[in-house]
Amino acid sequence: MLNDSEHRVRRVPRVLLICLDSLIPSAITPEAMPNLVKVMDWGTRFANHRAVVPSETLVNMASMLTGTKVGEHGIVANQFTDRSITGWPSLNLGVAEEIDAWMERHGRLTPMRTFGEYLHAAGQKLAVVSTCSSGATRMIDPHGRALGNFSLSCHSPSTSYPEVDVERIRRQFGACPPCCEPDVEAARYAVDVLLDYVVPVVSPDTAILWVNEPDTSYHAFGTTGPSTTATLTAVDNELGRVFDWWRRNATVECSLFIASDHGHIDLEPVSPVNSDFEAVFGHLHDESVMPEGLRKRLARCSTVYLPTEARPELHNLTQSLLDKPWVGHVFCAPVGVDGSVPPGTHPISLIMGAGARTPDVAFTVIAETKKNVQAAVARADIADLKRGNHGGLESRELECLFLAIGPKYPAGTLSYDPSTTDGVFRELIDAAGLTTGNDGAPCGQTRPFECTAEIDGRRSVVRGTFDGKYHNIIGGAVEFVPSPQPEFQVTVGEDGRSNRPVH
Ligand SMILES: [Zn+2]
Repeated sequence: MLNDSEHRVRRVPRVLLICLDSLIPSAITPEAMPNLVKVMDWGTRFANHRAVVPSETLVNMASMLTGTKVGEHGIVANQFTDRSITGWPSLNLGVAEEIDAWMERHGRLTPMRTFGEYLHAAGQKLAVVSTCSSGATRMIDPHGRALGNFSLSCHSPSTSYPEVDVERIRRQFGACPPCCEPDVEAARYAVDVLLDYVVPVVSPDTAILWVNEPDTSYHAFGTTGPSTTATLTAVDNELGRVFDWWRRNATVECSLFIASDHGHIDLEPVSPVNSDFEAVFGHLHDESVMPEGLRKRLARCSTVYLPTEARPELHNLTQSLLDKPWVGHVFCAPVGVDGSVPPGTHPISLIMGAGARTPDVAFTVIAETKKNVQAAVARADIADLKRGNHGGLESRELECLFLAIGPKYPAGTLSYDPSTTDGVFRELIDAAGLTTGNDGAPCGQTRPFECTAEIDGRRSVVRGTFDGKYHNIIGGAVEFVPSPQPEFQVTVGEDGRSNRPVH
Protein backbone atom coordinates (compact mmCIF):
# COMPACT_ATOMS: atom_id res chain seq x y z
CA MET A 1 0.00 0.00 0.00
CA LEU A 2 1.09 3.57 -0.61
CA ASN A 3 1.76 5.87 2.30
CA ASP A 4 0.63 9.50 2.46
CA SER A 5 3.78 11.04 1.08
CA GLU A 6 3.61 8.69 -1.89
CA HIS A 7 0.04 9.72 -2.59
CA ARG A 8 1.09 13.36 -2.48
CA VAL A 9 3.40 13.08 -5.46
CA ARG A 10 0.83 11.37 -7.65
CA ARG A 11 0.95 13.29 -10.90
CA VAL A 12 0.61 12.53 -14.56
CA PRO A 13 3.87 12.30 -16.52
CA ARG A 14 4.29 15.12 -18.99
CA VAL A 15 4.81 12.54 -21.72
CA LEU A 16 3.43 9.02 -21.99
CA LEU A 17 4.33 6.74 -24.90
CA ILE A 18 2.39 3.51 -25.30
CA CYS A 19 3.83 1.11 -27.85
CA LEU A 20 1.73 -1.87 -28.93
CA ASP A 21 4.28 -4.11 -30.58
CA SER A 22 3.42 -4.90 -34.21
CA LEU A 23 -0.13 -3.52 -34.13
CA ILE A 24 -1.46 -3.21 -37.69
CA PRO A 25 -3.46 0.01 -38.10
CA SER A 26 -6.26 -1.77 -39.99
CA ALA A 27 -6.82 -4.03 -36.95
CA ILE A 28 -8.12 -1.07 -34.96
CA THR A 29 -11.85 -1.58 -35.40
CA PRO A 30 -14.77 -0.62 -33.12
CA GLU A 31 -15.50 -4.32 -32.60
CA ALA A 32 -11.96 -5.39 -31.67
CA MET A 33 -10.52 -2.27 -30.04
CA PRO A 34 -13.32 0.12 -29.01
CA ASN A 35 -11.22 2.08 -26.53
CA LEU A 36 -8.44 2.74 -29.00
CA VAL A 37 -10.98 3.73 -31.66
CA LYS A 38 -12.46 6.27 -29.24
CA VAL A 39 -9.05 7.75 -28.47
CA MET A 40 -8.31 8.24 -32.18
CA ASP A 41 -10.54 11.33 -31.94
CA TRP A 42 -8.47 12.88 -29.18
CA GLY A 43 -5.53 13.85 -31.34
CA THR A 44 -3.74 13.57 -34.68
CA ARG A 45 -3.16 10.29 -36.43
CA PHE A 46 -0.27 9.98 -38.86
CA ALA A 47 -1.88 7.99 -41.65
CA ASN A 48 1.33 7.41 -43.65
CA HIS A 49 3.50 6.22 -40.79
CA ARG A 50 5.95 3.40 -41.54
CA ALA A 51 8.61 1.26 -39.99
CA VAL A 52 12.19 1.45 -41.18
CA VAL A 53 13.68 -1.65 -42.84
CA PRO A 54 14.46 -4.23 -41.50
CA SER A 55 11.01 -4.04 -39.92
CA GLU A 56 12.14 -5.66 -36.68
CA THR A 57 11.45 -4.47 -33.15
CA LEU A 58 14.92 -3.47 -31.97
CA VAL A 59 15.77 -1.71 -35.23
CA ASN A 60 12.65 0.44 -35.02
CA MET A 61 12.87 0.92 -31.28
CA ALA A 62 16.36 2.37 -31.81
CA SER A 63 14.94 4.71 -34.47
CA MET A 64 12.08 5.80 -32.21
CA LEU A 65 14.37 6.54 -29.29
CA THR A 66 17.32 8.16 -31.11
CA GLY A 67 15.50 9.88 -33.98
CA THR A 68 17.85 8.33 -36.53
CA LYS A 69 17.82 5.75 -39.31
CA VAL A 70 19.55 2.37 -39.28
CA GLY A 71 22.69 3.71 -40.95
CA GLU A 72 23.23 6.11 -38.04
CA HIS A 73 22.11 4.21 -34.95
CA GLY A 74 23.75 0.97 -36.11
CA ILE A 75 21.14 -1.44 -34.73
CA VAL A 76 20.89 -3.33 -38.02
CA ALA A 77 18.80 -6.28 -36.78
CA ASN A 78 17.58 -7.97 -33.61
CA GLN A 79 20.78 -9.99 -33.80
CA PHE A 80 24.04 -8.96 -35.39
CA THR A 81 27.79 -9.01 -35.12
CA ASP A 82 30.38 -6.27 -35.39
CA ARG A 83 33.36 -6.89 -37.65
CA SER A 84 35.38 -4.15 -36.00
CA ILE A 85 35.59 -6.32 -32.87
CA THR A 86 38.05 -9.21 -32.79
CA GLY A 87 36.34 -12.58 -33.04
CA TRP A 88 33.12 -11.08 -34.40
CA PRO A 89 31.05 -11.69 -31.28
CA SER A 90 27.35 -12.11 -32.00
CA LEU A 91 24.80 -10.17 -29.98
CA ASN A 92 21.18 -11.15 -29.38
CA LEU A 93 19.36 -7.98 -28.39
CA GLY A 94 16.55 -10.00 -26.86
CA VAL A 95 18.63 -10.76 -23.78
CA ALA A 96 19.43 -7.97 -21.30
CA GLU A 97 22.43 -9.77 -19.83
CA GLU A 98 24.00 -10.04 -23.32
CA ILE A 99 23.50 -6.32 -23.89
CA ASP A 100 24.95 -5.43 -20.50
CA ALA A 101 27.98 -7.67 -21.09
CA TRP A 102 28.50 -6.23 -24.57
CA MET A 103 28.37 -2.63 -23.34
CA GLU A 104 30.71 -3.48 -20.47
CA ARG A 105 33.23 -4.96 -22.90
CA HIS A 106 32.79 -2.88 -26.04
CA GLY A 107 31.13 0.38 -24.96
CA ARG A 108 27.96 1.94 -26.28
CA LEU A 109 25.68 0.01 -28.60
CA THR A 110 24.77 3.09 -30.58
CA PRO A 111 26.79 6.25 -31.06
CA MET A 112 23.56 8.27 -31.00
CA ARG A 113 22.27 9.83 -27.80
CA THR A 114 19.13 8.13 -26.63
CA PHE A 115 15.88 9.71 -25.47
CA GLY A 116 16.65 8.71 -21.86
CA GLU A 117 19.96 10.55 -22.07
CA TYR A 118 18.35 13.69 -23.47
CA LEU A 119 15.84 13.67 -20.64
CA HIS A 120 18.57 13.14 -18.06
CA ALA A 121 20.61 16.06 -19.41
CA ALA A 122 17.54 18.23 -18.80
CA GLY A 123 17.07 16.88 -15.29
CA GLN A 124 14.09 14.75 -16.27
CA LYS A 125 13.36 11.19 -15.31
CA LEU A 126 12.24 8.30 -17.53
CA ALA A 127 10.31 5.23 -16.38
CA VAL A 128 9.85 2.14 -18.56
CA VAL A 129 7.35 -0.67 -18.01
CA SER A 130 7.52 -3.42 -20.60
CA THR A 131 6.22 -6.92 -21.24
CA CYS A 132 8.77 -7.54 -24.05
CA SER A 133 11.92 -9.56 -23.75
CA SER A 134 14.44 -8.44 -21.16
CA GLY A 135 16.71 -7.22 -23.95
CA ALA A 136 14.05 -5.20 -25.74
CA THR A 137 13.19 -3.60 -22.42
CA ARG A 138 16.86 -2.77 -21.85
CA MET A 139 17.10 -1.18 -25.30
CA ILE A 140 14.30 1.29 -24.56
CA ASP A 141 16.67 3.05 -22.15
CA PRO A 142 20.07 1.29 -22.43
CA HIS A 143 21.84 3.61 -19.95
CA GLY A 144 18.88 4.07 -17.61
CA ARG A 145 20.37 2.35 -14.60
CA ALA A 146 23.38 4.67 -14.51
CA LEU A 147 21.11 7.67 -15.10
CA GLY A 148 18.94 6.84 -12.08
CA ASN A 149 15.89 5.97 -14.18
CA PHE A 150 13.32 3.24 -13.59
CA SER A 151 12.87 0.17 -15.80
CA LEU A 152 10.67 -2.85 -15.17
CA SER A 153 10.81 -5.81 -17.53
CA CYS A 154 7.68 -7.55 -16.23
CA HIS A 155 8.91 -10.99 -17.32
CA SER A 156 12.44 -10.37 -16.06
CA PRO A 157 12.52 -8.60 -12.69
CA SER A 158 16.14 -9.71 -12.20
CA THR A 159 17.29 -7.40 -15.01
CA SER A 160 15.06 -4.51 -13.84
CA TYR A 161 16.01 -1.54 -11.68
CA PRO A 162 16.23 0.10 -9.18
CA GLU A 163 16.16 -3.09 -7.11
CA VAL A 164 14.36 -1.41 -4.23
CA ASP A 165 11.40 -0.57 -6.48
CA VAL A 166 11.43 -3.99 -8.13
CA GLU A 167 11.17 -5.61 -4.69
CA ARG A 168 8.35 -3.29 -3.61
CA ILE A 169 6.48 -4.07 -6.83
CA ARG A 170 6.90 -7.79 -6.19
CA ARG A 171 5.43 -7.37 -2.72
CA GLN A 172 2.57 -5.11 -3.87
CA PHE A 173 1.56 -6.87 -7.11
CA GLY A 174 3.10 -10.35 -6.85
CA ALA A 175 5.06 -11.83 -9.73
CA CYS A 176 4.05 -11.17 -13.31
CA PRO A 177 2.19 -14.17 -14.83
CA PRO A 178 4.59 -16.28 -16.90
CA CYS A 179 5.09 -15.38 -20.55
CA CYS A 180 2.70 -17.26 -22.82
CA GLU A 181 0.76 -17.08 -26.09
CA PRO A 182 -1.30 -14.92 -25.85
CA ASP A 183 0.44 -12.77 -23.25
CA VAL A 184 -2.49 -10.63 -22.18
CA GLU A 185 -2.21 -11.24 -18.42
CA ALA A 186 1.18 -9.55 -18.55
CA ALA A 187 -0.43 -6.50 -20.20
CA ARG A 188 -2.87 -6.26 -17.28
CA TYR A 189 0.01 -6.55 -14.82
CA ALA A 190 1.99 -3.86 -16.64
CA VAL A 191 -0.94 -1.43 -16.57
CA ASP A 192 -1.47 -2.12 -12.85
CA VAL A 193 2.18 -1.33 -12.15
CA LEU A 194 2.11 1.78 -14.35
CA LEU A 195 -0.99 3.30 -12.77
CA ASP A 196 -0.60 2.14 -9.17
CA TYR A 197 3.16 2.27 -8.67
CA VAL A 198 5.10 4.08 -11.39
CA VAL A 199 2.86 7.14 -11.54
CA PRO A 200 2.42 7.69 -7.79
CA VAL A 201 5.78 6.44 -6.48
CA VAL A 202 8.37 6.80 -9.26
CA SER A 203 6.65 9.93 -10.57
CA PRO A 204 8.61 10.17 -13.83
CA ASP A 205 8.55 13.09 -16.28
CA THR A 206 8.13 10.62 -19.13
CA ALA A 207 6.77 7.08 -18.98
CA ILE A 208 6.97 4.44 -21.68
CA LEU A 209 4.67 1.42 -21.66
CA TRP A 210 5.72 -1.19 -24.23
CA VAL A 211 3.33 -4.13 -24.62
CA ASN A 212 4.52 -7.25 -26.50
CA GLU A 213 0.99 -7.84 -27.81
CA PRO A 214 -0.33 -8.20 -30.44
CA ASP A 215 3.11 -9.23 -31.74
CA THR A 216 3.15 -12.45 -29.72
CA SER A 217 -0.34 -13.45 -30.90
CA TYR A 218 0.32 -12.43 -34.51
CA HIS A 219 3.37 -14.69 -34.61
CA ALA A 220 1.55 -17.57 -32.97
CA PHE A 221 -1.92 -17.38 -34.54
CA GLY A 222 -1.57 -15.06 -37.54
CA THR A 223 -2.94 -11.56 -37.91
CA THR A 224 -6.59 -12.58 -38.13
CA GLY A 225 -8.75 -15.20 -36.49
CA PRO A 226 -10.54 -15.53 -33.17
CA SER A 227 -7.47 -15.94 -30.92
CA THR A 228 -5.87 -12.80 -32.27
CA THR A 229 -9.08 -10.80 -32.08
CA ALA A 230 -9.50 -11.90 -28.46
CA THR A 231 -5.98 -10.66 -27.74
CA LEU A 232 -6.67 -7.28 -29.32
CA THR A 233 -9.82 -6.87 -27.26
CA ALA A 234 -8.13 -7.94 -24.03
CA VAL A 235 -5.28 -5.49 -24.59
CA ASP A 236 -7.76 -2.78 -25.51
CA ASN A 237 -9.54 -3.37 -22.19
CA GLU A 238 -6.31 -2.67 -20.34
CA LEU A 239 -5.64 0.39 -22.48
CA GLY A 240 -9.11 1.60 -21.58
CA ARG A 241 -7.99 1.89 -17.95
CA VAL A 242 -5.01 4.02 -18.99
CA PHE A 243 -7.15 6.24 -21.20
CA ASP A 244 -9.74 6.79 -18.44
CA TRP A 245 -6.99 7.74 -16.00
CA TRP A 246 -5.41 10.02 -18.60
CA ARG A 247 -8.68 11.79 -19.33
CA ARG A 248 -9.30 12.40 -15.62
CA ASN A 249 -5.80 13.53 -14.68
CA ALA A 250 -3.76 14.83 -17.63
CA THR A 251 -3.12 18.56 -17.68
CA VAL A 252 -3.01 20.74 -20.79
CA GLU A 253 0.72 20.37 -21.28
CA CYS A 254 0.65 16.54 -21.15
CA SER A 255 1.13 14.53 -24.33
CA LEU A 256 0.09 10.95 -24.98
CA PHE A 257 1.55 9.01 -27.91
CA ILE A 258 0.30 5.63 -29.07
CA ALA A 259 2.45 3.80 -31.58
CA SER A 260 3.44 0.47 -33.03
CA ASP A 261 6.98 -0.29 -34.13
CA HIS A 262 6.23 -2.17 -37.38
CA GLY A 263 3.45 -4.13 -39.08
CA HIS A 264 3.01 -7.84 -39.64
CA ILE A 265 2.20 -10.31 -42.39
CA ASP A 266 0.83 -13.84 -42.51
CA LEU A 267 2.99 -16.66 -43.78
CA GLU A 268 1.90 -19.65 -45.68
CA PRO A 269 3.88 -22.76 -44.87
CA VAL A 270 7.02 -22.46 -46.95
CA SER A 271 9.25 -25.11 -48.43
CA PRO A 272 11.93 -26.65 -46.21
CA VAL A 273 14.06 -23.56 -46.06
CA ASN A 274 16.54 -24.91 -43.56
CA SER A 275 17.74 -27.68 -45.84
CA ASP A 276 17.84 -25.25 -48.77
CA PHE A 277 19.79 -22.85 -46.63
CA GLU A 278 22.21 -25.62 -45.76
CA ALA A 279 22.61 -26.35 -49.45
CA VAL A 280 23.67 -22.78 -50.18
CA PHE A 281 25.71 -21.92 -47.12
CA GLY A 282 26.33 -25.30 -45.49
CA HIS A 283 29.89 -25.68 -46.73
CA LEU A 284 30.80 -22.52 -44.83
CA HIS A 285 30.00 -24.17 -41.53
CA ASP A 286 33.47 -25.55 -41.38
CA GLU A 287 35.08 -24.13 -38.29
CA SER A 288 38.14 -23.15 -40.28
CA VAL A 289 36.18 -20.61 -42.29
CA MET A 290 33.37 -19.58 -39.91
CA PRO A 291 34.28 -17.71 -36.75
CA GLU A 292 33.00 -19.24 -33.54
CA GLY A 293 29.50 -18.05 -32.66
CA LEU A 294 28.49 -17.33 -36.21
CA ARG A 295 28.07 -20.88 -37.42
CA LYS A 296 24.77 -21.20 -35.62
CA ARG A 297 23.65 -17.81 -36.79
CA LEU A 298 24.43 -18.71 -40.35
CA ALA A 299 21.98 -21.55 -40.29
CA ARG A 300 19.25 -19.55 -38.66
CA CYS A 301 19.48 -15.96 -39.77
CA SER A 302 18.51 -14.02 -42.79
CA THR A 303 21.57 -11.89 -42.39
CA VAL A 304 24.79 -13.58 -43.45
CA TYR A 305 28.27 -12.46 -42.45
CA LEU A 306 30.89 -14.16 -44.56
CA PRO A 307 34.41 -14.73 -43.38
CA THR A 308 36.82 -12.57 -45.36
CA GLU A 309 38.27 -15.53 -47.25
CA ALA A 310 34.79 -16.55 -48.42
CA ARG A 311 33.87 -13.15 -49.85
CA PRO A 312 34.93 -14.08 -53.39
CA GLU A 313 32.06 -16.59 -53.20
CA LEU A 314 29.51 -13.82 -52.73
CA HIS A 315 28.49 -13.83 -56.35
CA ASN A 316 27.91 -17.59 -56.52
CA LEU A 317 26.21 -17.69 -53.12
CA THR A 318 23.68 -15.04 -54.03
CA GLN A 319 22.95 -16.74 -57.35
CA SER A 320 22.27 -20.04 -55.54
CA LEU A 321 20.07 -18.21 -53.08
CA LEU A 322 18.08 -16.59 -55.87
CA ASP A 323 17.33 -20.06 -57.26
CA LYS A 324 15.37 -21.01 -54.14
CA PRO A 325 11.61 -20.63 -54.45
CA TRP A 326 11.21 -19.26 -50.89
CA VAL A 327 13.70 -16.42 -51.28
CA GLY A 328 12.34 -12.91 -51.75
CA HIS A 329 14.51 -9.81 -51.98
CA VAL A 330 18.27 -10.28 -51.76
CA PHE A 331 20.51 -7.41 -50.67
CA CYS A 332 24.24 -7.76 -51.14
CA ALA A 333 27.47 -5.97 -50.27
CA PRO A 334 29.42 -4.62 -53.26
CA VAL A 335 31.43 -7.28 -55.06
CA GLY A 336 33.20 -5.26 -57.71
CA VAL A 337 35.66 -2.39 -57.38
CA ASP A 338 32.99 -0.25 -59.00
CA GLY A 339 30.62 -1.02 -56.12
CA SER A 340 28.35 -3.21 -58.23
CA VAL A 341 26.30 -6.07 -56.79
CA PRO A 342 25.54 -9.49 -58.30
CA PRO A 343 22.66 -9.70 -60.80
CA GLY A 344 19.23 -10.05 -59.21
CA THR A 345 20.34 -8.40 -55.94
CA HIS A 346 20.04 -4.90 -54.53
CA PRO A 347 22.88 -2.98 -52.86
CA ILE A 348 22.66 -3.58 -49.12
CA SER A 349 23.34 0.12 -48.59
CA LEU A 350 19.74 0.65 -49.69
CA ILE A 351 18.51 -0.62 -46.33
CA MET A 352 21.39 -0.44 -43.89
CA GLY A 353 24.17 1.87 -44.92
CA ALA A 354 27.72 0.57 -44.86
CA GLY A 355 29.24 -0.28 -41.51
CA ALA A 356 31.01 -2.93 -39.46
CA ARG A 357 27.67 -4.46 -38.50
CA THR A 358 26.25 -4.52 -42.01
CA PRO A 359 26.03 -8.13 -43.22
CA ASP A 360 27.33 -9.30 -46.60
CA VAL A 361 23.92 -10.62 -47.52
CA ALA A 362 20.44 -9.91 -46.19
CA PHE A 363 17.44 -11.58 -47.70
CA THR A 364 13.72 -11.86 -47.20
CA VAL A 365 11.54 -14.93 -47.30
CA ILE A 366 8.51 -15.29 -49.51
CA ALA A 367 5.46 -14.90 -47.36
CA GLU A 368 2.61 -15.61 -49.70
CA THR A 369 2.41 -17.59 -52.85
CA LYS A 370 0.06 -15.92 -55.23
CA LYS A 371 0.31 -16.45 -58.89
CA ASN A 372 3.06 -14.32 -60.32
CA VAL A 373 3.14 -11.80 -57.47
CA GLN A 374 4.78 -12.73 -54.25
CA ALA A 375 5.09 -10.70 -51.10
CA ALA A 376 8.14 -11.12 -49.00
CA VAL A 377 9.22 -10.96 -45.42
CA ALA A 378 12.59 -11.03 -43.79
CA ARG A 379 13.13 -13.14 -40.74
CA ALA A 380 16.05 -13.16 -38.40
CA ASP A 381 15.49 -16.77 -37.54
CA ILE A 382 14.45 -19.03 -40.37
CA ALA A 383 14.29 -22.10 -38.19
CA ASP A 384 11.56 -20.44 -36.20
CA LEU A 385 9.19 -19.24 -38.90
CA LYS A 386 5.74 -19.09 -37.39
CA ARG A 387 2.24 -18.30 -38.58
CA GLY A 388 2.84 -14.56 -38.86
CA ASN A 389 6.00 -12.58 -39.30
CA HIS A 390 7.72 -9.29 -40.04
CA GLY A 391 11.14 -7.92 -40.81
CA GLY A 392 10.95 -7.32 -44.55
CA LEU A 393 9.60 -4.59 -46.76
CA GLU A 394 6.19 -5.77 -47.83
CA SER A 395 3.91 -2.78 -47.31
CA ARG A 396 1.90 -4.51 -44.56
CA GLU A 397 5.09 -5.13 -42.61
CA LEU A 398 5.91 -1.44 -42.77
CA GLU A 399 2.54 0.17 -42.00
CA CYS A 400 2.31 1.03 -38.34
CA LEU A 401 0.39 3.21 -35.93
CA PHE A 402 1.31 6.66 -34.71
CA LEU A 403 -1.26 8.70 -32.83
CA ALA A 404 -0.34 11.93 -31.01
CA ILE A 405 -2.52 13.54 -28.37
CA GLY A 406 -1.56 16.80 -26.71
CA PRO A 407 -1.39 20.57 -27.05
CA LYS A 408 0.33 20.45 -30.46
CA TYR A 409 -2.13 18.07 -32.06
CA PRO A 410 -5.63 19.18 -33.12
CA ALA A 411 -8.25 16.63 -32.06
CA GLY A 412 -9.79 14.36 -34.65
CA THR A 413 -7.28 15.12 -37.40
CA LEU A 414 -5.38 13.00 -39.85
CA SER A 415 -1.91 13.88 -41.10
CA TYR A 416 -0.97 12.44 -44.45
CA ASP A 417 2.64 13.62 -44.25
CA PRO A 418 4.86 10.55 -44.70
CA SER A 419 6.73 9.66 -41.52
CA THR A 420 8.87 6.81 -40.27
CA THR A 421 9.48 5.49 -36.76
CA ASP A 422 12.45 7.82 -36.23
CA GLY A 423 9.94 10.69 -36.46
CA VAL A 424 8.36 9.57 -33.17
CA PHE A 425 11.51 10.80 -31.44
CA ARG A 426 11.01 14.37 -32.67
CA GLU A 427 7.52 14.46 -31.20
CA LEU A 428 8.68 12.96 -27.89
CA ILE A 429 11.52 15.48 -27.55
CA ASP A 430 9.22 18.34 -28.39
CA ALA A 431 6.51 17.20 -25.97
CA ALA A 432 9.11 16.90 -23.20
CA GLY A 433 10.06 20.54 -23.81
CA LEU A 434 13.54 19.68 -25.10
CA THR A 435 15.50 20.51 -28.22
CA THR A 436 18.10 18.40 -29.97
CA GLY A 437 20.39 18.31 -32.97
CA ASN A 438 19.68 14.79 -34.19
CA ASP A 439 16.06 15.27 -35.03
CA GLY A 440 16.13 13.05 -38.08
CA ALA A 441 15.00 15.87 -40.35
CA PRO A 442 15.22 15.20 -44.09
CA CYS A 443 18.54 16.27 -45.58
CA GLY A 444 17.31 17.50 -48.89
CA GLN A 445 14.48 17.43 -51.32
CA THR A 446 12.62 14.16 -51.18
CA ARG A 447 12.13 12.36 -54.46
CA PRO A 448 10.65 8.96 -55.26
CA PHE A 449 12.83 6.06 -56.36
CA GLU A 450 12.24 2.57 -57.67
CA CYS A 451 15.05 0.04 -57.66
CA THR A 452 14.64 -3.08 -59.82
CA ALA A 453 16.87 -6.15 -59.80
CA GLU A 454 16.03 -8.69 -62.46
CA ILE A 455 17.40 -12.10 -63.33
CA ASP A 456 15.96 -15.13 -65.15
CA GLY A 457 12.35 -13.94 -65.09
CA ARG A 458 12.56 -12.94 -61.45
CA ARG A 459 12.01 -9.26 -60.77
CA SER A 460 12.63 -7.76 -57.35
CA VAL A 461 11.38 -4.22 -56.88
CA VAL A 462 12.01 -1.83 -53.98
CA ARG A 463 10.12 1.46 -53.85
CA GLY A 464 10.41 4.52 -51.67
CA THR A 465 11.67 8.06 -51.42
CA PHE A 466 15.21 9.39 -51.20
CA ASP A 467 15.78 12.47 -49.09
CA GLY A 468 19.35 13.21 -50.16
CA LYS A 469 20.83 10.98 -47.46
CA TYR A 470 18.50 8.06 -46.77
CA HIS A 471 16.26 5.76 -48.72
CA ASN A 472 12.87 5.63 -47.00
CA ILE A 473 11.35 2.39 -48.18
CA ILE A 474 7.62 2.31 -48.78
CA GLY A 475 7.38 -1.27 -50.00
CA GLY A 476 8.61 -3.88 -52.38
CA ALA A 477 7.55 -6.95 -54.29
CA VAL A 478 9.08 -9.94 -55.99
CA GLU A 479 7.49 -10.98 -59.23
CA PHE A 480 8.10 -14.06 -61.27
CA VAL A 481 7.65 -13.48 -64.94
CA PRO A 482 7.13 -16.76 -66.80
CA SER A 483 9.82 -17.27 -69.41
CA PRO A 484 8.24 -16.71 -72.82
CA GLN A 485 7.09 -19.91 -74.51
CA PRO A 486 7.96 -20.35 -78.17
CA GLU A 487 5.04 -19.07 -80.18
CA PHE A 488 3.26 -21.74 -82.15
CA GLN A 489 1.30 -21.13 -85.25
CA VAL A 490 -1.01 -23.91 -86.14
CA THR A 491 -1.41 -24.62 -89.76
CA VAL A 492 -3.85 -27.02 -91.16
CA GLY A 493 -2.63 -29.35 -93.85
CA GLU A 494 -4.33 -29.60 -97.14
CA ASP A 495 -5.87 -32.84 -96.02
CA GLY A 496 -7.45 -30.90 -93.18
CA ARG A 497 -5.90 -33.17 -90.53
CA SER A 498 -2.19 -32.77 -90.04
CA ASN A 499 -1.28 -29.88 -87.72
CA ARG A 500 2.22 -28.63 -87.95
CA PRO A 501 3.64 -26.13 -85.52
CA VAL A 502 5.61 -23.33 -87.12
CA HIS A 503 8.03 -21.20 -85.06
ZN1 LIG B 1 8.10 -5.29 -32.62
